[in-house]
Amino acid sequence: MPKFRAPRGTTDLLPEEQPYWDFVSQQVERLCRAYGYGRIEPPVLEDAALFERGVGAETDIVQKEMYTFQDKGGDLLALRPEGTASVCRAYLEHGMHSLPQPVRLYYLLPMFRYERPQAGRYRQFHQFGFEAIGEGDAALDAEVIDLSWQLYQAFGLRDLTLVLNSIGTPESRSRYHQALREHYRPHLERVCSDCRARFERAPLRLLDCKQDAALAEAAPRSLEHLDGESAHHFQQLRAYLDALGVPYTQDHRLVRGLDYYTRTVYEIQPSQEGSQSAIGAGGRYDGLIQELGGAPTPGVGFAGGVERIILNLKRQGREVGPGAAPRAFVASVGEEAKTAAVRITGELRRAGITALMGLGGRSLKAQLRQAGALGAPYAVIIGGDELAAGAATVRDLARGEQESVPLGGLREWLQARVGGPLS
Ligand code: AMP
Repeated sequence: MPKFRAPRGTTDLLPEEQPYWDFVSQQVERLCRAYGYGRIEPPVLEDAALFERGVGAETDIVQKEMYTFQDKGGDLLALRPEGTASVCRAYLEHGMHSLPQPVRLYYLLPMFRYERPQAGRYRQFHQFGFEAIGEGDAALDAEVIDLSWQLYQAFGLRDLTLVLNSIGTPESRSRYHQALREHYRPHLERVCSDCRARFERAPLRLLDCKQDAALAEAAPRSLEHLDGESAHHFQQLRAYLDALGVPYTQDHRLVRGLDYYTRTVYEIQPSQEGSQSAIGAGGRYDGLIQELGGAPTPGVGFAGGVERIILNLKRQGREVGPGAAPRAFVASVGEEAKTAAVRITGELRRAGITALMGLGGRSLKAQLRQAGALGAPYAVIIGGDELAAGAATVRDLARGEQESVPLGGLREWLQARVGGPLS
């Protein structure tokens, strides 16, 4: 047992994982730019009160999962558990209301939640997300939903479902809360103890209770309690999604665990699993900026979990391109040849060909074995004869064939076979 291990629920992202991370972040960057979103990177630490205000003091995130601590100066800080509150704080702090509205921002950031770790659930995890702030038009909800959907298409994930609902405004929701309480009150013994405790404060959450699905199915529906404007907004949104060709299913039980949502809520779920395994979620949050001390400002956004996406990419056997395996391994015999190997390796690297060389005075046989173990397709062999001839012996390690390649043309020879930019 090593003396130190990564803290529970955290993990080292090792080199072999990186191709997946590169792939996901490249798709996020490419599509967010195409939709006109600019990158933002708020600090990992925030005033703990920001999340109490922004995410909601009654939410699991704030009540149970937040890493909160007092720093040496006595300030109460939290490790960021989600991105939206930080982005909205930054919008206010930097006076972004004076920019053309809506302001479109995206991020890819580590998040921290003290949760019970399991497959796809960690204490440090990563989310990408985007927020469009300063406009209430349903066409903006459609834009954000379309961007989320197109991203998951770009990841190449199959069998996803986009689940959509509207939960109205705080006013219409308090009427809906009332209707829900009336529905659940006679049956409180049928929900779990957590939900019983939430019954008065957060009755929407009872719809998520896994204990009695039939009871939730029979519950009154938020769509039936929408105010006129929210109903119109939802109708427009569906028309825009149809125009964009984004498929969705409606689910009246989708309410989301965060307090700040208004009107539109949605999740992207892998088809084969339940709502617990959502791989991305978002919605409209028209009250949030005001809650944080700004003027009333509407907004809509989405966040996706990178680890869960990668888990699904692996499950579906999706290839994401080569990792950092060397394309060439330069082996040498003798000190003079080793100096040449140092130079050649450097030249290949500067030409964009991933190259490694034999170290530590190993025998040629040991160097070639290492080249094979590292997965290099070619070994470039330099010894006295090669130096004298001004040509390397290049060995195709899979076929066991070799040929002599003049040192002056080695770079082009390799580039033609293993790729890499031509300069
Ligand atoms: P939320 O901010 O809770 O709406 O979560 C948005 C997405 O982040 C989820 O759909 C998950 O994909 C991901 N996510 C949330 N919590 C975790 C966690 N503890 N570990 C890994 N991914 C998570």
